[in-house]
Amino acid sequence: MKALVYTGDQNVEMRDVDDAAVGNQDILVNVLRAGICGTDIGAIVHGRPKLEPGIVLGHEFVGRRLDSGRLVVGNPIIACRQCTMCSAGATHLCTNRKVLGVHRQGAFAERVSVPERNLVDAGDLSLTEAALIDPVATALHAWRLAPSSSTRVAVLGAGAIGLCTVAVLKAAGVEEIAITDIVPERLEFARTLGATSVVLPSGGVFDCVLDAVGSEQTRQQATALLRTGGTAVLIGLHAERLSVAAGPLIGGERTIRGAFAYTEAEFVEAIGIVRGMDTSWVRTIPFEYAADSLAAMVGGRYREREAKVHLQIGE
Ligand SMILES: [Zn+2]
Ligand SMILES: [Zn+2]
Repeated sequence: MKALVYTGDQNVEMRDVDDAAVGNQDILVNVLRAGICGTDIGAIVHGRPKLEPGIVLGHEFVGRRLDSGRLVVGNPIIACRQCTMCSAGATHLCTNRKVLGVHRQGAFAERVSVPERNLVDAGDLSLTEAALIDPVATALHAWRLAPSSSTRVAVLGAGAIGLCTVAVLKAAGVEEIAITDIVPERLEFARTLGATSVVLPSGGVFDCVLDAVGSEQTRQQATALLRTGGTAVLIGLHAERLSVAAGPLIGGERTIRGAFAYTEAEFVEAIGIVRGMDTSWVRTIPFEYAADSLAAMVGGRYREREAKVHLQIGE
């Protein structure tokens, strides 16, 4: 089958590879759409997370089970269900976790092998909606870590996670949703999804700020925009280090916390949020263009309006 393989040295290639291996807990899925994620780019460029050459990338996908033909989305986080974190219900923080497209063969391929319990029925979702469950669930999880009383919320970055965060905030009934991005065209999508403002004030007024970028600047901005007692939730992983002014953090009892992926329950819950969501910010391209497209993103040459690229692998 055709698959997009990481070959080492920041390189990806379309290759003919052996069909996905199937363990006795696994189901083969014919992939229809798979989304390119910031995590894929970060892994290729910075080696965070580290990829072994030969790995097939891709963890955001929808497809049909080979056995039943049912449309399914795959939760890419494979948890051991035995460690302390798993026992506490935090399977996304499993100390033995394996992620599809990072630690085992992913979904930028005609077929992917997935543990059966990681497959969720996609029901009546469109293929585009279904392939967005991962970023929507990520946004939902980040919002769950914010104080539930937050009414004034800012989102930094209108990439896929930022836009999905706006959709999650809107669904949660948040009154004021402000967002910024360095690509102004993307802010229009944010408005459509429910952002109430695309300009940020200079002072600290927000109950909560969600940083969907993770650069040094946005991390500083995230804390500077908080009111006294406010909470910054960091999702984006762009920069390796966090460096913020300690005075306002301590003197104003502000909180900074990290948010990673989602629980299994949130992955399922995201289906309800993505159904009927505006997806005009997703560009779908033929699978043949995947290697070139990823290379452009890795080289920083990708500056499209669309915040998300889906690979059309099957129909
Ligand atoms: Zn992702
Ligand atoms: Zn575990």
